[in-house]
Amino acid sequence: MTNRRTFILKLVPLAGAAAVLPRMALAEIPHLAEADKMATAMGFHLHTKDADQKKYPKHTEEQFCGRCLHFTEPGKDEARCDLFNKIVPKGGWCSGFSKRP
Ligand code: SF4
Repeated sequence: MTNRRTFILKLVPLAGAAAVLPRMALAEIPHLAEADKMATAMGFHLHTKDADQKKYPKHTEEQFCGRCLHFTEPGKDEARCDLFNKIVPKGGWCSGFSKRP
């Protein structure tokens, strides 16, 4: 009985930490900057209207992060892009855009 009680008492704080850790981890994910090396290579801009149309002629303003398959939380104003593993705004764009079905 004592072992079971000890086990449960040890488990409760761990469960609480497990509930808080994912939120903390998400808060620690950096925002993607246009000057980031990989972002530059992918033509990333914080606003889809700023995309280089000459370099990316297939780009349209209907393409933006909020509609991209890599935007991990559709409907949010910003979310982690799983291509860069950084936070991007829903109105951003890069050449890795892949339309969400
Ligand atoms: S891959 Fe998609 S979500 Fe990520 S920056 Fe490019 S357009 Fe935005």
